[in-house]
This record gives sequence, structure tokens and C-alpha cells, in this order.
Amino acid sequence: MSALSLVNGVVLNLAVLIAGVFLVSLTFFRVGQPDRPAALLARYVALVATSLFALANTVQLVPGILFDFRMVPVALVARRHGRLAGLAVALPVGTCRFLLGGVGAVPSLLQLLLVAWLAAPDGAWLRLTASERTALTRTPWVALRLFALANLPLFIAFALGREPWTTAVGAYTALTVLSTVGLLLGQVAGNTRLRSLARTQHYQTLASTDALTGVLNRRQFEQDLAAVPDDTYLLLLDLDHFKRVNDTYGHDGGDRVLQAFTAITQHSTRARDRVYRLGGEEFAVLLHHCPPETAADVAERIRANVQGTLAARAGLPGETFTVSGGLVLVAPEVDALAVADERLYRAKAHGRNRTVTA
Ligand code: GH3
Ligand code: MG
Ligand code: MG
Repeated sequence: MSALSLVNGVVLNLAVLIAGVFLVSLTFFRVGQPDRPAALLARYVALVATSLFALANTVQLVPGILFDFRMVPVALVARRHGRLAGLAVALPVGTCRFLLGGVGAVPSLLQLLLVAWLAAPDGAWLRLTASERTALTRTPWVALRLFALANLPLFIAFALGREPWTTAVGAYTALTVLSTVGLLLGQVAGNTRLRSLARTQHYQTLASTDALTGVLNRRQFEQDLAAVPDDTYLLLLDLDHFKRVNDTYGHDGGDRVLQAFTAITQHSTRARDRVYRLGGEEFAVLLHHCPPETAADVAERIRANVQGTLAARAGLPGETFTVSGGLVLVAPEVDALAVADERLYRAKAHGRNRTVTA
């Protein structure tokens, strides 16, 4: 095989790898939590197909030694999803390579299994959650070491055969360096989508949360209120005489009270309920799938916990803070926010530190 067709073969194989890894990257939909089973299955199929297509377009470096980027998808999946996932991709591909025969048949199968074994971070077995931070790119030596180890059986088999040492060393070096380059480029192709997903999630969080307290903001409240499930109650809350808190303890003291207040409100509600800061010292809670008595109980629990513990939590023992609320069932053709606001106003007018429910 002439040098030109060898280079041509390697470049075409790289193109197969990059196209495959790009398709694999399209099966990522979220970072920080596992994708749906259908997406995971599609990812698996795309990885095996990429590896098999690389093998189908293999380049013969020297008789019996085939080069292609089939190891890269195995390394990528093991790196991201652990050993079991790597082995699951390595096995069908390794079997196909084994059936092609040659000096490298058995060592090539071993080589793929070694990659699956060694590439997993901290020896993890299975990790379904994808993170954009499991790349090897920042440490190319890790990739080089990985393939240097995985290619050893092939090197030994080849050196023990009739080949001169120089050929064995040349083939080993070429396999190791090319696979490393393939892995680094494959990662760039695959990581682009994960990084943009992570960035999008980050901006979505910024756009929907309140910077001071970390609860959801008014924008998210308006979206959620327009699409609540059945039996949702809206509880509108407003801290009493909050202006005085600022006047007495300064803006920082006021901020601490607001943060302690959201902590109390979250502890006083269920995980499925959502807490929002609408602005200033005004908050809302959407109580999903909530019976009427429970809604009133939650409102009372928040009120009592605020009166009993808010001052201490905010680092102002000896003080007493209270909150007033307006509670309403969210129903079609009712302006729930206006009704809750009117009830909150009545709670204020009737002496504060209470929730008006009707
Ligand atoms: P009421 O019992 O009738 O609700 O009286 P209030 O003093 O709580 O109500 P008012 O609306 O007069 O005052 C709200 C105060 O909340 C005024 C403002 O300085 C303060 N505030 C609004 N946003 C923030 C904030 O982000 N941090 C701090 N520390 N204070 C804030
Ligand atoms: Mg107030
Ligand atoms: Mg207010």
C-alpha cells in the first residue's frame, strides 16, 4: 500500500469517526441527570455502529495489523458511562475484529476490552448521568497512556511473530499515536453538544431563579401559574412591617431575613410544591394536588414557623417577625393572583400575622 493511500485511508477513517461521534452527541439531551432509556439505547446503537463502520473501513498498516478508530468510541463511552458501558460496546466490535482473523485477531479483542476497562474514570462500573466535565482533552497523556497499554498485547504478538522489531515498534507507535489523536478529536466533536447543553441549562436556571434567595422568580411564577395541575392552591405571602427591618438592621440584615424566610417556607412545604419570590418581601407558593384542609394547614405551618424561628434563623434573636398570607384555589376563569392579593390585603387590614382563606 502506497504512503498516499495509507494517509487517505486514515483520514477517511477519521471522517467516519467524527461523523459517528457527532451522531452520538445528538443522543444527549441533558447533563447532570440521566437521559431517557430511549436516548441511552440510541446512544449505544450509534456508538457500536460508529466503531463497526470504522472497522469496516480499516487500513492495513502492515500485513496482519489493521488500523482504524474503532477503539475511540469504546474509550469515549467508558470514560463517560463506566466500564460496563465500555465493555458492552467493545464486545460486539471485538468479536467482529476477531472473525476477520490475522496475527492481530486475539490481541485486538483484548485491546478493546482493555480500553473499556482502563478508560473508565476511577474504575466506575456504570454511570448513566452525563457530565460535560469527563473529557480527557485537557490531559492528552491520559489518552496516550491508555492506548500505549491497550496496544501492548498486539505489540507482543507481533514482536513474537516473524516480524523484525523495527516493524513491530513502528506499527505499535503508529497505532498508539493515531488512536490518541482520534480520541482527542472525537472528544471535541462529542463534547460540543454537551457543553452547549450545560450552558443552556445554566442560563435557564439563571433566568428562572431569584439571585438573592435562590427560589424561583416572578417570570417562572407567571409561566407556572398559567399551567397548574388540578387542585393547586396559590398562597401569597408578604412579610409584615419589613421596612422597619431594613431601617433597624440595614439592607444586609433585611436580606438575611429574606433568605431565612425562603428556607423556612421551603421546609414547611412538600418537595412537589414550588416557592417563588415575586419581588421585595412578597412571595408565592403553588401547592400542587393539594386538598383544601392541607392548603390551610401549610399556610398556618409557614406562619407559625416564621413567627417562631425566623428571627433566630436570620441571626437576630430576641426579635419577632411575622408574615401575612392570602390563599386561593387556582381555577379557570378566576384571576387567582388578584383574589390572593385581595385576601392578603385583608390579612394586613385585620392585624397581620394571619392567612385569609375566604
Ligand atoms: P406591610 O406589613 O404592610 O407589608 O409593611 P412592609 O413594611 O413590609 O411593606 P412595604 O411595602 O412598605 O415595605 C417593603 C420593604 O421591603 C421596602 C423595601 O425597602 C424592602 N425591600 C424590597 N426588596 C428588598 C430586598 O431585596 N432586600 C431588602 N433588604 N429589602 C427589600
Ligand atoms: Mg410587607
Ligand atoms: Mg410588600
